[in-house]
Amino acid sequence: MTDIIGRYAPSPTGDLHFGSLVAALASYCHAKARGGLWRLRIDDLDTPRVVPGSAERIVETLYAFGLKPDGPIMSQSRRGPAYDAAIAQLKRQGNAFDCGCTRREARQGPPGDEGPIYPGTCRDGLPAGREPRSIRCRVDDRSIRLVDAVQGPVAQSLGRAVGDFVIRRADGITAYQLATVVDDAAQGITEVVRGVDLLTSSPRQRWLQQCLALPTTAYLHVPIIVDDRGEKLGKSTGALALDRRRKRELTWHGLALLGHRPPVTPEARSTSWLLDWALAHWCVERIPQKSAVSLNAV
Ligand code: GLU
Repeated sequence: MTDIIGRYAPSPTGDLHFGSLVAALASYCHAKARGGLWRLRIDDLDTPRVVPGSAERIVETLYAFGLKPDGPIMSQSRRGPAYDAAIAQLKRQGNAFDCGCTRREARQGPPGDEGPIYPGTCRDGLPAGREPRSIRCRVDDRSIRLVDAVQGPVAQSLGRAVGDFVIRRADGITAYQLATVVDDAAQGITEVVRGVDLLTSSPRQRWLQQCLALPTTAYLHVPIIVDDRGEKLGKSTGALALDRRRKRELTWHGLALLGHRPPVTPEARSTSWLLDWALAHWCVERIPQKSAVSLNAV
């Protein structure tokens, strides 16, 4: 029995692109190189952004690239009762409150790391005559500290950087931070590996784990891949969609950008050989400790 469980959690808002492959390779290798399991979850909560058919195409593409998940694939759209239970627990404990502010009202606070900090209007109860719209998690000024396996130490005061954050949106959709924490715990995840653009979400997720008395996860954030103009590769960058006919070359390139440059030998002709090589040589210290790496860096 292994005690290492990694995961990959794409949002089905389009097809996988090369940047997604790099994150998937990192999470796969980081779990499998240490004899762990690798799970897959489809983050399909944000229904207005879901592109029909993309979840199926993402799964097929991962299989085609040899990235086969262990166990059943979880879909967030089927997890409503688990999120409701977590939100009820947070409210019972005083860690969450109903908020009646419109988006505009909620943005009246001082500037924070990700836009204005919630001004605290409803944290001690809804003002008279206000209807609940969203639900927020209450935070304080204490520093949340964690050590990312690649990016190093992270310390953030949620009160000063983000403020009381939304866990259920006004449209009724459970927010990313809460769903992630509840599902990571349900899937037994020990290692969260993803793109560095989500690094600043980690303190909020650690806080929710503490409030819900869930096990804490380890974090590893890989650099995002940028094009030659320094722009993050997007799902819209059609040229970088994952063409299965080029899977060996794309896998080689992705591993090389993660600091694991496989040898170019006759055996390196298959994708499965490249993956086996990566598992045998996986070493976190080789991953560039950067927030972005250019597609052309290797
Ligand atoms: N679903 C998120 C995304 O595709 C990633 C979530 C996570 O890894 O925590 O950007």
